[in-house]
Amino acid sequence: MRVILIGPPGAGKGTQATWLKERLGVPHLSTGDMLRAAVQQGTELGRQADGYMRRGELVPDDLVIRMAVERIGQADCGNGFLLDGFPRTRAQAEALDVALQAAGTAIDVVLLIEVPDELIIDRITGRVQDPETGTIYHLRFNPPPPEVAPRVVQRKDDTEQACRARLDKYHSETAPIVPFYRDKGLLRTVDGVGSPDEVSRRLLAALG
Ligand code: AMP
Repeated sequence: MRVILIGPPGAGKGTQATWLKERLGVPHLSTGDMLRAAVQQGTELGRQADGYMRRGELVPDDLVIRMAVERIGQADCGNGFLLDGFPRTRAQAEALDVALQAAGTAIDVVLLIEVPDELIIDRITGRVQDPETGTIYHLRFNPPPPEVAPRVVQRKDDTEQACRARLDKYHSETAPIVPFYRDKGLLRTVDGVGSPDEVSRRLLAALG
């Protein structure tokens, strides 16, 4: 199954993707994770992406499209994939369509997780991750257990300023791809307010 997860920053895409990928038996492709790995490794792509990411801006389409299309072409994506954080612009959505068409495949479903703006800043500025397991916690809403707490890290772009910039970009660049997928009959919308378990149940229902 070829699935796209769309939602504002902090909607819970990463959290939901960790169980959804098991359920669907497909790899979880997060362009944010790929770009953070490139920055960490100091590759050319990482050097080009770093500043945009710190400021909460989008990395230019040509760089991200090349990276994502290359990843989707790898053998483990033969039976499908769960895309998280891509496409994020109309140009990316169109490039993805072209790449999939060339491979004789297409997207099966697009899941949109909706969360109102006023909840986003609180969710993101308290967010931390366990670097060993990748598990995402929230310092107030879902604190890490005591043995994990000393090693959790915060993303460089989870500051309030970068978060507001990311939210603006979501509304100006990413939200316009929603009608693109609705017109194709692929869109299913899920309420992202509530506990991770509640949202998981809604996603399952939406997947049928
Ligand atoms: P995420 O982990 O999905 O929140 O992504 C973190 C950051 O990586 C974003 O704020 C962007 O700077 C960059 N990024 C991730 N995916 C994309 C994409 N599809 N297009 C452009 N920039 C991206």
